[in-house]
Amino acid sequence: MRAFLAILCLLGFATAPAPAAEAAARPLVVTSFTVIADWVQVLAGKEVEMVNLVPSRSETHGFQLSVRHARDLRRASLIVGMSPSLEPWLEAWAKTNDRPHRLIWLFDERPGPRDGHDLCADPHAWTNPDEVKKMVRLLATRLGQIVPAKKTEHAFGEYVKEIDRVDKELRKLFAALPAERRSLVTQHANLGHFAENYGLRVARTILASSSAEAADLSARHFSELLTLIRREGIRVIVTDAGQSDAFARRLAEDAGLPSPLALSFEYLEPAGLPGDSWAGMMLHNGRRLHEALSRR
Ligand SMILES: [Zn+2]
Repeated sequence: MRAFLAILCLLGFATAPAPAAEAAARPLVVTSFTVIADWVQVLAGKEVEMVNLVPSRSETHGFQLSVRHARDLRRASLIVGMSPSLEPWLEAWAKTNDRPHRLIWLFDERPGPRDGHDLCADPHAWTNPDEVKKMVRLLATRLGQIVPAKKTEHAFGEYVKEIDRVDKELRKLFAALPAERRSLVTQHANLGHFAENYGLRVARTILASSSAEAADLSARHFSELLTLIRREGIRVIVTDAGQSDAFARRLAEDAGLPSPLALSFEYLEPAGLPGDSWAGMMLHNGRRLHEALSRR
């Protein structure tokens, strides 16, 4: 037995740290929502302990932190959010808790023009692969300061290839769409970056604010949307999966359109389902949107 233990020692087994000690030594990274959690996982994997705040299938815009979340945030080595306009609750927490140096915002949100294409102020930048590359670059650099940078750099290099694969497939898909089938109406203003990248046009949104949360909608707004849909020959209304779509349904019925298309660009699905990674989410939703826009 003693000889066996000696061999184990020689092989390094007996001197390896216990799993619990290893876990305690890892830096904690807190992510705001599932898309960012996926990127941290891809870049740093088991090198970090990870806590994600907004769970899958939940709304990020109007999220509220619990006492437990605040505890995790206080002991985090790094906190990662998209931008203050997507996660105002995280910005508010950071301001009152004096943690600005541990919090990074991935999307550089500059004030843009208030009318027309205001993509600088639209936080849904993860729907555009070009923006994703910039954000993942920033994240890899920051993670490389708390875990071995060699690993995050290697993972970054591999992941850029995957981002390019996703972009290439979606570009090919949407390139074939005729011009008159490129317009859509969305529930909230979340597909501006996606539309710009793939040559689509979001003619109007049902909700005025950037949030996906329900709001009271007027009869006047309804008739304006109906007129626009008829005038521009729009065939597709996109809603946010999991959010109320009663208004969009009525609109589709009155306009003689198919039922609204519920997409989930706002979060990743639970592990094992289609759309459980950023790449899977983009392809799954992108293909469904393309299919709806192509339908005769
Ligand atoms: Zn949104």
